[in-house]
Amino acid sequence: MRKIAVIGSTGSIGTQTLDVVMQHPEQFVIEGLAAGSNIDMFVQQVNAFRPKKASIGSKQLAEQVAPLLPADVELYYGEQGLIEVAAGTDADFVLSAIVGSAGLPPTLAAIAEGKTIGIANKETLVTAGHIVTELAKQKGVKLVPVDSEHSAIFQCLNGENLNEVDHITLTASGGAFRDLTRAQLQNVTLEDALKHPNWSMGAKLTIDSATMVNKGLEVIEAHWLFDLPYDKIKVLLHPESIIHSFVEYRDGSIIAQLGTPDMRVPIQYAMTYPARLASASKRLSLAEVGKLHFREMDEERFPCLRLAYECGKIGGTATTVFNAANEVAVARFMSRAIPFMQIETIIEEVLSKHIPVAKADLETIQAADRWARETAALL
Ligand code: NAD
Ligand code: MG
Repeated sequence: MRKIAVIGSTGSIGTQTLDVVMQHPEQFVIEGLAAGSNIDMFVQQVNAFRPKKASIGSKQLAEQVAPLLPADVELYYGEQGLIEVAAGTDADFVLSAIVGSAGLPPTLAAIAEGKTIGIANKETLVTAGHIVTELAKQKGVKLVPVDSEHSAIFQCLNGENLNEVDHITLTASGGAFRDLTRAQLQNVTLEDALKHPNWSMGAKLTIDSATMVNKGLEVIEAHWLFDLPYDKIKVLLHPESIIHSFVEYRDGSIIAQLGTPDMRVPIQYAMTYPARLASASKRLSLAEVGKLHFREMDEERFPCLRLAYECGKIGGTATTVFNAANEVAVARFMSRAIPFMQIETIIEEVLSKHIPVAKADLETIQAADRWARETAALL
């Protein structure tokens, strides 16, 4: 039986992870659960799965839920609680599914304990990819991708030699606004941005898909997961999200991974890798789909993607700042403080004020993250 801890258990990835666990009760047991503020769902999950350790966002919430939980569950809260759940149980696999760079400390703590990481929280790799991958290498820890594009690439690389890869291509659905011009983007609302055509995901990621920041974060994530230079990572618009991504080898052969858009498939694969289990997810019928479409990415239409490549190539704190500025800009858009188009302006302005530090240590990374947040909040 695989022992699992889930960081971010009440979110889109977290709940789908627990779905997979329920489908295969003979394969998985839950050792730890951590969530932010959805206390009703948290209480229900802790009672259903009875982890050894559980953690909620704050002390106040912990006091509220404590009487509703089984007495033998150890309850924690806050950042220390996340670390306790990620690193302090017998779990051998930690699914990192909180949102934002808050995922960095618990992920590093879990790696330090030698636990395999299912990495959904891409912001962790964007914030401090060099530190995370270096520690993983040192500890002999595998980072198994959960993001659908990266799971696809991971599968397409199985048994192949990385030196023979010509390039990889991440597909992009284009998000809620893929067919709008920049002029039409001026008047879009929060409600419009939250309507993703193919995937049902957390709010922050849905906004990131509409700005194309998400694909930028994914390019940087791919750089760290697959140890590939940025000129070997391409992006292609593919509105149907059926081809999840593909690898082209030096002989011109292309290997792709396909399926219906359902995150439970890559989540389960990360949890069972290298084995595969049956899945209740809807099967893909290419005959039913009939046609697939592809378009070149337009960097002028989606400037955040260009910015992400630029930051990725600079490295160090540049990607940290790109991510932190975006997190704040998206939060402000979600609270209706700024219009949609200001998200990219804020990212660009914060980056223009930043002098990147190459090979930054953790302290420098965390200082850059804080500085970018403070700066983005004032623009
Ligand atoms: P979500 O907003 O639905 O869920 C986030 C979860 O993290 C919730 O349980 C929330 O309570 C918890 N959380 C957030 N901040 C916290 C904090 N500081 N302390 C404790 N708990 C906290 O987000 P999601 O869509 O599930 O995405 C999670 C991560 O997975 C993101 O990094 C996202 O980019 C990535 N991802 C998601 C999908 C998807 O389909 N949803 C696909 C690929 C990658
Ligand atoms: Mg993705």
